[in-house]
Amino acid sequence: MKRLLFWALIALSLIVPGLLINQQTQTPLSGLDVYFLDAGQGDAILIRSSSGQNILIDGGPDNLVLEKIGRLLPYKERMIDLAILTHPHADHLLGLIAALEKYQIPKILSTGINYQNSDYRYFQEIIGGKNTIIAEETEIKLSPNCSLKIIYPDENISGQDSKNINNSSIVSELICQKDKILLMGDAEVEVEKELLQSHADLQAEAIKLGHHGSKTASSPEFIEQVSPQTAIITVGEGNKYNLPSPETLDEMEKLGIKVIRTDLAGTIKMHLE
Ligand SMILES: [Zn+2]
Repeated sequence: MKRLLFWALIALSLIVPGLLINQQTQTPLSGLDVYFLDAGQGDAILIRSSSGQNILIDGGPDNLVLEKIGRLLPYKERMIDLAILTHPHADHLLGLIAALEKYQIPKILSTGINYQNSDYRYFQEIIGGKNTIIAEETEIKLSPNCSLKIIYPDENISGQDSKNINNSSIVSELICQKDKILLMGDAEVEVEKELLQSHADLQAEAIKLGHHGSKTASSPEFIEQVSPQTAIITVGEGNKYNLPSPETLDEMEKLGIKVIRTDLAGTIKMHLE
């Protein structure tokens, strides 16, 4: 897998689930570490960069995320430099609210999409002036060689309604030199079509599949264009939605893409150099 390195811990965590999450981790010496947290049926992704930044993308469905983050960050670390809410569904939002209540998080990125929900209203209240609305393609420097690039939405959708909130998801690329992981949030086929038209270079070594491996995302056209070696699926064990869908798993197998799932592997760690 070219320069995108899986640490041996991934293989170990596949054999001995839970091993990885029992040890606090060092700040990476270079590049960045990405943790797809085993935080139940939802998304929660922690990024630690060599420059010492901690980024949290979504927080999963409840406060289980606190335990998962607590096992990874140094004992007294209380700072998460940036939190991103991809979209306001509960399986991404509620754990992020728990993280906001426990950690100092000086910067938030969100779309500001309109969504009538009391938890989302509470989130908007507590983030107050820390929030930055995504208004265009945005690149956030994480270390000398690495950045997080928001590629969707590429315009301000704050205050707008959406027929399908999943399709308001922030989609981003984690890039270190030429290695890339594409993070799809819960974006579905409609967003994939837009990205195919608007975004020239979708190729990535790994992809976190949209919408927890549901068949409403990960169209063959899109996945072929991304051409990943690895697909990560964030799902809760025995989830009531029966995700990931068999169709998605079949497609990955047909395309020769290795699938790693949080329900089977526990927290998944990847390193970008
Ligand atoms: Zn979701």
